Amino acid sequence: MNSVEQIVRNGLCTGCGLCAGIAPDSIRMRMTDAGYLRPQVVAPVPSAANKDIDAACPGMVVAHQRASTPYHPIWGPVQACRTGYSTDTEVRHQGSSGGGISALLIHLLQTGQIDFAAHIAVSNEDPLRNELQLSANREDVIRGAGSRYAPAAPLARLGELIQSGKRYAFVGKPCDVAALRQYLRQRPEHQASFPFLLSFMCAGTPSLKGTHQVIRKLGFQPQEVVKFRYRGDGWPGMAKAETQDGRSAEMDYASSWGTVLNQHLQFRCKICPDGTGEFADVVCADAWYGKDGYPDFAERDGRSLILSRTPKGEALVQAAAKAQAIVMSDLPVDDLAQMQPYQLNRKTMVLGRAIATKLRLGQAPKYAHLGLIKASTQARPIEWLRNAAGTYRRAKGEIA
Ligand SMILES: Cc1cc2nc3c(=O)[nH]c(=O)nc-3n(C[C@H](O)[C@H](O)[C@H](O)COP(=O)(O)OP(=O)(O)OC[C@H]3O[C@@H](n4cnc5c(N)ncnc54)[C@H](O)[C@@H]3O)c2cc1C
Repeated sequence: MNSVEQIVRNGLCTGCGLCAGIAPDSIRMRMTDAGYLRPQVVAPVPSAANKDIDAACPGMVVAHQRASTPYHPIWGPVQACRTGYSTDTEVRHQGSSGGGISALLIHLLQTGQIDFAAHIAVSNEDPLRNELQLSANREDVIRGAGSRYAPAAPLARLGELIQSGKRYAFVGKPCDVAALRQYLRQRPEHQASFPFLLSFMCAGTPSLKGTHQVIRKLGFQPQEVVKFRYRGDGWPGMAKAETQDGRSAEMDYASSWGTVLNQHLQFRCKICPDGTGEFADVVCADAWYGKDGYPDFAERDGRSLILSRTPKGEALVQAAAKAQAIVMSDLPVDDLAQMQPYQLNRKTMVLGRAIATKLRLGQAPKYAHLGLIKASTQARPIEWLRNAAGTYRRAKGEIA
C-alpha cells in the first residue's frame, strides 16, 4: 500500500491536497461518503514525488527545524501579538473576525508584492463546496473572506501554481500551511512562488455532513440551497442559507459551530499539534472579548487577533499598519489563553493523544520541535491520561 493510502486508512489525512498537488497525474482529491476530502491514488506515484510527499504531508510529519525565534510552548513562534481590524469597513464586516487576513492580502496585491492571493472561496459550481480561488484584486479577496467550516484542499493545484511562475500569498488552515512550509523546505527552488504564507487558528475541519445538518436545522434540504455562508457579515456573524425561491434562514455562531459543526470534526484534527498556525508568517484568529472567563460570542464590530510569527510576517504587519490598511493594539501573549481556551487545552493534551494513536494504529504523525513535552506539563495529569485513553478508544482508522 502507498504511504498516502496508509495515511488515509489510518484516519491521519488532513485533506490539504498536497499529495495531489505534487503528483496530479497519480493522485486526485475526492469527497468521501463520510463528507471529507481525501486523496485517491489512481496511478503509480513517481518516486521523487513520493519522497516530497513523505517529507511534507502533515499526516506523516509536523516538525519545525530547530528555530532561533522565541518559542512559546503553547503559542509557538511569536514575533508580536496584537489585536486589530481592517480599516476598510466592507472588509471588516465581510471578514470572519476583523478582516485581518483579507486586509493583508489586499495590501500585498496593491503594493505589488504578490500577483495573486491563493485562498479558499465558495465553489462556482456548488454552493456547499469549497475551491481554491486566485484573487488579483480587492473584490476577489472579499469574495473569499469569511471562514468556511467544511473540507477544503487548497494545495491540490500546487504544481500548477508553481509552474505559472507567478508570486502567491497562500492562505490555509494550519495543516495546509505546515504542509506547504515543509514542502518548500524540501524544495527551496520553489520558495519564490510563495513569498507569504498566512493562516488562522483552527479548531478542526468538520465533515460536509455538518453543513448539511446545519441546513436541515434551518428548515431546508441541502439540495435546495443556492447560497450558504457560515460566518462573516458581522462578528461572529450568522450562518445563513438561501434557497432558489427566495427563502432564507439564519443561525447564530454559538449554535452552528458550538452545537453542530464541532460534532463533525475529522479524527486527525483531534490529534493536531498545531491549531495556531505555527508555520505561517502571520496568523489571524478571533480576538474574542471575555465574559465570565469564557469567550463571548455577542455580535460586535469585528476584531482579529494578529500574530506575526516570522520577521517577514512582522514586517508585513507593520507595513500594512503604516499604510493604514489595518489598525492594531498590542496584546500580552498571556491574554491568548482566555481568548483561545480550546487551543490551549488541545496543545497541552496532544502528546498523550498522539502516543495513544501510535499504540492503537501502529502509526501517528511525527511531531518534532513543537514544545509538546513542555505543553503537557501544563495539563492536569489525570486529564492528560483520560484524553489519551479516550483517543485510544476512538482511533479506529477511516473507511474509504
Ligand atoms: C475550519 C476552521 C476552524 C477555525 N477554528 C478557529 C479557532 O479555533 N479559533 C479561531 O480564533 N479562529 C478559528 N477559525 C478562523 C476564524 O474563523 C477566522 O478565519 C480568523 O479569525 C481570521 O479572520 P479574518 O477576519 O482575519 O479572516 P478573513 O479576512 O475572513 O479571511 C479568512 C481567510 O480564510 C480562508 N478560508 C476560509 N475557510 C477556509 C478553509 N476551510 N480552509 C482554508 N482556508 C479558508 C479564506 O479564503 C480567507 O482568505 C477557523 C476557521 C476555519 C475555516
